[in-house]
Amino acid sequence: MAIKKASVAKKYAAYEAILKRRIAELQERVARARAEIQAENDPDDEGALAYRNTNREMLMTNIERDVQSILEMERALDRIKTGRYGICVSCDEPIAEARLKALPWARICIACATNPNQNRRLTGLEKLSPAR
Ligand SMILES: [Zn+2]
Repeated sequence: MAIKKASVAKKYAAYEAILKRRIAELQERVARARAEIQAENDPDDEGALAYRNTNREMLMTNIERDVQSILEMERALDRIKTGRYGICVSCDEPIAEARLKALPWARICIACATNPNQNRRLTGLEKLSPAR
């Protein structure tokens, strides 16, 4: 039904905007980190080399985590488009509004998230604290 679909889209428009903005921020951060890695020169002493390697490792870890988050948020945007947003992928119950506000990319409800037997499909991102 067209009216229902429109109201659902409107209902989640705020989350869509948050997700899109967050994706853009993360993409920018990833681009900056990649540029920083590429711009690094080979240091000429051991101390600088050790620092460079540690810094590079940290940047790579951050990039990996950010890329994972971007994927997770893009999946959430897909769910908004397909009408699956806000529905727990584990038990098919609606995800509470408060949880979506804190974790706009949440795929599972709080009950499934806190039940260790049911959170097999829980991703790393959902275990993290909410994005700002
Ligand atoms: Zn659930």
